[in-house]
Amino acid sequence: MTKRFETDVVIIGGGATGTGIMRDCALRGIPCILIEKSDLASGTTGRNHGLLHSGARYAVKDQHSARECINENKILRRIAKHCVEDSQGLFISLPEDGLDYQSELLASCQQAGIDAQALSKQQALMLEPNANPQLIGAVQVPDGTLDPFRLTASNALDAIEHGARLLTRTQVTGLIQEQERVIGVECLCLNSGEKIAVYAKEVINAAGIWGQQLCEYADLNVTMFPAKGSLLILDYRINNVVLNRCRAPADADILVPGDTISLIGTTSEEIGYDQIDNLHVTPDEVDVLIEEGCKLAPIMRNTRVLRAYAGVRPLVSIGGDSSGRDISRGIVLLDHAERDGLSGFNTITGGKLMTYRLMAEQATDLVAKKLGVSTPCTTDTRPLPGSNAQQPNKRHTASIAKPIYASACHRHGERAADFLGQNTDDETLVCECEMVTKGEIRYAINQLHVDTITDLRRRTRLGMGPCQGELCAYRAAGLFSELGHGKHHASHLLHRFLEERWKGIKPVFWGDAQREAEFTYWIYEGLMGISDFASEPQPSSFPQHNEQEA
Ligand SMILES: Cc1cc2nc3c(=O)[nH]c(=O)nc-3n(C[C@H](O)[C@H](O)[C@H](O)COP(=O)(O)OP(=O)(O)OC[C@H]3O[C@@H](n4cnc5c(N)ncnc54)[C@H](O)[C@@H]3O)c2cc1C
Repeated sequence: MTKRFETDVVIIGGGATGTGIMRDCALRGIPCILIEKSDLASGTTGRNHGLLHSGARYAVKDQHSARECINENKILRRIAKHCVEDSQGLFISLPEDGLDYQSELLASCQQAGIDAQALSKQQALMLEPNANPQLIGAVQVPDGTLDPFRLTASNALDAIEHGARLLTRTQVTGLIQEQERVIGVECLCLNSGEKIAVYAKEVINAAGIWGQQLCEYADLNVTMFPAKGSLLILDYRINNVVLNRCRAPADADILVPGDTISLIGTTSEEIGYDQIDNLHVTPDEVDVLIEEGCKLAPIMRNTRVLRAYAGVRPLVSIGGDSSGRDISRGIVLLDHAERDGLSGFNTITGGKLMTYRLMAEQATDLVAKKLGVSTPCTTDTRPLPGSNAQQPNKRHTASIAKPIYASACHRHGERAADFLGQNTDDETLVCECEMVTKGEIRYAINQLHVDTITDLRRRTRLGMGPCQGELCAYRAAGLFSELGHGKHHASHLLHRFLEERWKGIKPVFWGDAQREAEFTYWIYEGLMGISDFASEPQPSSFPQHNEQEA
């Protein structure tokens, strides 16, 4: 039998854009349900640089995008403090780049309202001592870093606390239509195999690069032009300031620090739409990323590459022209009632991670108008959960080791009070690399929609550090059991987590990364016989999904 839900707005896609819309709808009092086929931030949102652009990268070629970026940059620093790090950015010119682009950059930034300052070589190296000392010029801009996982989870958390509903591991398989109107979506729950019908007055397609598939369900012509980008994660944080090459955008020209690591990206390659679920980082891409990355910060040669991953930019042809002549790199909002004569269906795509809030505002404005809701958007001023000023009560947390306390507050802001200082058992460290405690895992499993250890990684950074889950994954699996997921289930979750980690290690499997991976293999296969778990039949409630995990 098909399960049935009714609501005002269905949002398809649990990336930054979809969860941003979910929050915006909920804050305006519009009942909504978000449907995500995998986990939150498992699409492109979880596979990018995490750069909070100042807009400088776009200023020379695209003033409109540059202005959008600097406006949203200022807003996110206020409303998403626990997701943003004010690292600042440097555009460095190397001898082979010359200084022509630097003058163009300075003039364009000024025109777009971006505070860009030319620095001397000494000033630049003082700000970022690991920048290439061969640099001949530098410009400081208000770049930052943005944690996409925390951002998405916080938007979803706030939306749920304001009455929205979230269905993860639920795939939209069709649109329910009545004459020239979409009146809901057909879904399949990937955990249980159950069919679900969700009826709504308006459906918003926020499925990023997968948006074309959803439009095809209604025979709408929306053509995506997928551009794959590959990135590498290094085993420690080699820079504290975002390093950009001061030249027209090219391969491997951004080195971004984030939490405990740095990452270098990206390459750019047009791929066929049939390849978007089958991304591989090639040896040539790894070579380019390392070679060019070392030019930004020569110390990169001494690092171990932890893993490689790839994402696809959702570029779209606005008019549906399949030649790509009318391709858009900005935000694309399609009202299919106006464009195609199909009411009740809307698509929002393109844009950037850091413009997610603006995209959400535009999409929510559109459906609010159609629903006759006049409540204005407040997401530009209202802090996300975790971004409020107060910190957990110091009296209750005085006994907690400082690094544990600081990591928890860094990741969850004031919400860390929900698990810090509750009891001493909760202070037990589970992931030493990222200082994740048992209490934080309990909180994530109970409050943040966690189904698997991979989801836990996105919510807490467990397994994201130098050992890549070698010492913490089995402890986390044990906690899944303890918290009611059953031993059998937990062993499968562990196996799945290690498989996902391996996908990212495979392209960089040499030297220290190889030694580390082989050690992990000895622990899990040699000591624990993990492959025996895999051959056992999976329980029916085991999450079924095909993730291309970062
Ligand atoms: C290599 C690279 C680097 C980038 N760097 C940056 C950067 O530094 N800063 C920046 O601001 N932007 C950056 N971007 C752009 C940014 O990552 C994307 O624009 C943004 O993440 C898109 O988010 P989204 O929510 O629109 O899409 P997604 O995150 O892709 O979300 C779409 C969701 O829809 C779900 N879905 C799909 N089909 C279905 C279905 N049938 N049923 C249910 N759910 C479905 C997917 O599982 C997915 O979770 C980068 C992009 C790439 C590729």
